[in-house]
Amino acid sequence: MDDNAPRDSSQAAGFHVPEVEVKFTRLFINGEFVDSLSGKEFETIDPRTGDTIARVAEGDKEDVNRAVRAARESFDDGPWPRLSGYERGRIMMKFGDLVEENLEELAMLDAIEGGKLLGLVKGMEIPIAVRLLRYYAGAADKIHGEVLKMSGNFHAYTLREPVGVVGHIIPWNSPSLMFFFKVSPALAAGCTMIVKPAEQTSLSALYYAHLAKQAGIPDGVINVVTGYGPTAGAAISHHMDIDMVSFTGSTEVGRLVMQASATSNLKIVSLELGGKSPLLIFDDADVDMAADLALQGVLANKGEVCVASSRVYVQEGIYEEFEKKVVEKVKAWTVGDPFDPNVHQGPQTDKPQFDKIMSYIGHGKREGARLLAGGESIGTKGFYIKPTIFADVKDDMTIAKDEIFGPVMSLMKFKTTEEAIRRANETRYGLAAGVVTRDINVANRVSRSVRAGIVWLNCYMVFDLDCPFGGFKMSGFGKDMGMDGLHKYLHVKSVVTPIFDSPWL
Ligand code: NAD
Repeated sequence: MDDNAPRDSSQAAGFHVPEVEVKFTRLFINGEFVDSLSGKEFETIDPRTGDTIARVAEGDKEDVNRAVRAARESFDDGPWPRLSGYERGRIMMKFGDLVEENLEELAMLDAIEGGKLLGLVKGMEIPIAVRLLRYYAGAADKIHGEVLKMSGNFHAYTLREPVGVVGHIIPWNSPSLMFFFKVSPALAAGCTMIVKPAEQTSLSALYYAHLAKQAGIPDGVINVVTGYGPTAGAAISHHMDIDMVSFTGSTEVGRLVMQASATSNLKIVSLELGGKSPLLIFDDADVDMAADLALQGVLANKGEVCVASSRVYVQEGIYEEFEKKVVEKVKAWTVGDPFDPNVHQGPQTDKPQFDKIMSYIGHGKREGARLLAGGESIGTKGFYIKPTIFADVKDDMTIAKDEIFGPVMSLMKFKTTEEAIRRANETRYGLAAGVVTRDINVANRVSRSVRAGIVWLNCYMVFDLDCPFGGFKMSGFGKDMGMDGLHKYLHVKSVVTPIFDSPWL
């Protein structure tokens, strides 16, 4: 077979694409599925073919207002923030069970809307999402403050209280994971919320809203408004009655979200933004293992991953060998129908994303990078791109600076540890980094010197529920996952009181 030859999405290719049943396409507000007030809808597209999968309600400002009213009432007067943490956790556990029971259908929705490998969604992303929900369910009854002994005849204690109504604005690259990254800790904290999924991938969020209701989460706690960013998304970030926006998406839109907060009610903002993450491979590395990490790091989920290792720096002693290895290995990377279990890479999520990646590949060619693999699209139907590797990339080339969010690796050579650290940090982003070396001193030094929210040593893209994740610099601020991910949905309140006749001052 040709390098990265596309596989046919037919039964002849040895797999079967099940019929996708779309059950929920309307907004979910105050516990009910409703049409948008304007009656407008938009199409959600299958990136394998460009065909329409379903028509989804297009929410805008008025629908966000409705959803915020429901969330506000539910926070100010409803049961959810007033339930014991144990009781909230119990209901969240039930929610997790229901997600698991409906795993097949949910996985189909993310795979077909996002062009994501069915195996990845079913075997990893939704199971992790469920574990995340259970992790925070377990944390819901362990939220507490501290007792402070103050100077003089006073003492104080701190309370951790839910921040209130939260707007979650999420991207399309991992719809289920993103939904539960945001919703699980906010639920545990006792917040109520409006979720705006990305317009490319609305369907699983609506299904989750339905399951949340079945699990016993009261009406108004989770509302889902599907629609476009500049309308529904902006209505959330500008809203005067939303207490916090938790945003994951591009740095450009993150800036707009912050501006909206500054010019409305100064709502709390948490931003998980883009990245241009370096992978630093030192001379003592196992070249075979390093080549695998580099390829997985940039090609997983067709490069549509915020932590993609899109800048690969290899030390000069092993550079030639590494280059040969990576070129050899990429030949076995198959692009094709994401429902085919033998495929490694499906189509890019939509036409604009496809065009953007192809335009970056054009920049790489024009600016003088040496094309080692790929560099072109596949077929005339759908949004498929060959895994692409450029060598001789210079730090000031467009492909080395901008987040491409596609299957494109920039390969560069370095001499010394100092140089590797300096060049790794020469970016406006700071989301993630990887280091491959057997030298503990190099590993320690580099991991402490690289300005990034997570550093993977001799591994890449390893996430754990208890491991906080979030960026430095223009990759944003505020963590998801771990207890930090819960604390961002909690205000700390201090209560101070005099103590009369205390024996201790
Ligand atoms: P995007 O910023 O275009 O959109 C993200 C969300 O914001 C979508 O729901 C969109 O509708 C909404 N939006 C768009 N314009 C808006 C506006 N004016 N006001 C409010 N909301 C608006 O990003 P994307 O293309 O969906 O996702 C790709 C980006 O997300 C990449 O930059 C990627 O690195 C980033 N990302 C980051 C992480 C992380 O954890 N750091 C995870 C996944 C993706």
